[in-house]
Amino acid sequence: MLNTELSVKIKNSASVAAEDCVFCKIATKKLPAAIVYDNNDYIAFMDRAPFSVGHTLVCPRKHGETVWDMTESEIGELFALAVRISKAVMKATESEGFRMVQNNGEAANQMVAHVHVHVIPVKMAHKGKFMDRKDLTMDELQKTAKEIAKALN
Ligand SMILES: [Zn+2]
Repeated sequence: MLNTELSVKIKNSASVAAEDCVFCKIATKKLPAAIVYDNNDYIAFMDRAPFSVGHTLVCPRKHGETVWDMTESEIGELFALAVRISKAVMKATESEGFRMVQNNGEAANQMVAHVHVHVIPVKMAHKGKFMDRKDLTMDELQKTAKEIAKALN
């Protein structure tokens, strides 16, 4: 049986109220983003500093810092959507594999304190190599987002 009463805390000095949260602002269209997918509960958009072309973030619209702030069924839906999106990401970027990464807390390099799953497409050329973040323009991100959105439909 799972012990849900463990007194452990996730440290996140990037913690902010929902009204100041960058991903909440993207979800409510107060900040621009290259959006790939959008429904009532979830949103997916291009990472502004991607590890590879096609690096997508999948988030619940509802603010919560880590997976511990979500119900088990919400966690299931989030990951199922990320897997669905991974197929479109791979098709659009002609990749040969993908990473799904989900960081919880500052020690895990979580940069924005709003739950998100990274979908990072990779090619054989990336195998065993350190991947650095790229600096792409919003136009470049929008172009890839459109191709992924098209592949999703
Ligand atoms: Zn948020």
